[in-house]
Amino acid sequence: MKAEEIFDTYNNGIMSTYTRFPLIFVKGKGSYLWDIHGKKYLDFFPGWGVGSLGHCHPKVMAAVRDQVSKLIFIANNYYHPGQANLAKELNLRGFDSKIFFCNSGAEASEGAIKFCRKFGKGRYEIITFENSFHGRTLAALAATGQKKYQAGFEPIPEGFKTAVLNDLKSVENALSDKTVAVMLELIQGEGGINIADKQFVSALRKLCDEKNMLLIADEVQTGIGRTGKMFAYQHYGITPDIMTLAKGLGGGLPIGVMAVKRQIADTLQPGMHASTFGGSPLVCKAALAVLKTIQKENLLHNVNSLGEYLRGQLNEMKKKYPAIIKEVRGIGLMFGVELNIPGKQIVEECIKKSLLINCTHDVVLRLMPALTVSKKEVDKALGVLDRVLASR
Ligand code: PLP
Repeated sequence: MKAEEIFDTYNNGIMSTYTRFPLIFVKGKGSYLWDIHGKKYLDFFPGWGVGSLGHCHPKVMAAVRDQVSKLIFIANNYYHPGQANLAKELNLRGFDSKIFFCNSGAEASEGAIKFCRKFGKGRYEIITFENSFHGRTLAALAATGQKKYQAGFEPIPEGFKTAVLNDLKSVENALSDKTVAVMLELIQGEGGINIADKQFVSALRKLCDEKNMLLIADEVQTGIGRTGKMFAYQHYGITPDIMTLAKGLGGGLPIGVMAVKRQIADTLQPGMHASTFGGSPLVCKAALAVLKTIQKENLLHNVNSLGEYLRGQLNEMKKKYPAIIKEVRGIGLMFGVELNIPGKQIVEECIKKSLLINCTHDVVLRLMPALTVSKKEVDKALGVLDRVLASR
């Protein structure tokens, strides 16, 4: 199909649930994408963090090629080595858990919510936070502390209270004798890169322990090395009871994980929860390749050193353009640049100059390059952003 026909077919045959840029991509390699006309783009926001190893990493491609010739899918009423290998490797990275495999972040959130309700034996309320994002399915949407995503889909499932991030009093005010859990993103992604304080998270952990409540870390966006540690909770000196993962784990293949602290994991028994495609041999093999590559190539070091470099450079840019840049926030390779002006046009200008970035909350530019990004690529992206801001 030619470009025009592809656009037409989208318009006529594909639901318009996304605001799309008029770009048709046909090839990816590392931090780069090529469109249908052969134009090359530097991707500083690969799939909302899905591209942890960039596009088409050779190790992921080799793993998929190998597995595809052996066994693509097997139902979850049998065993296969892939889930065992992946669960073992995930556990080796610090969270001693039992794992439920699913296919997306929302599905992982749903699993966590269901788990808490079963654990609660009548306690069912979950406290989540303003500006949080936990997915688009109904319960995940109810957990999401942003009214704009819920509007029009009422009645929203009950059982969720919203508190304010970094405000313990607001959490205490939201408590009731029905509260069973607190769910948070340690760094809110869709909400504009808002970072939970260390003190606040310790206090949440203490509160949950005192009240026999579960602490859920939604690491769908922050997990798998994005913040410079394997999981963002590891910055905080606490361990959650439940951790959800998705995006960056599968190297581009769809996977979700609900990991539950081993001691309580058997709360869910056979028949209580399921996912047909969850943890297929194919996605497990790809995810295993992602974990091993992060370790072998010492990518956390890359994330930390280039993350610090990027932070320094963005702060320099803030000094250079004080009227445009309000604040630079981030950790590892997860950055938000809050502007005093709408970000949409900046993103469009960057795209014209072959740099792909994102804007969330209207005014927060988001940069989340692959963990494999090089200094040369960081400099190239900064150069484009600088030229775009200079032209304002
Ligand atoms: N949780 C967080 C923190 C997310 O950022 C997202 C997606 O952006 C989700 C959950 C939902 O993930 P998915 O789109 O894979 O359902």
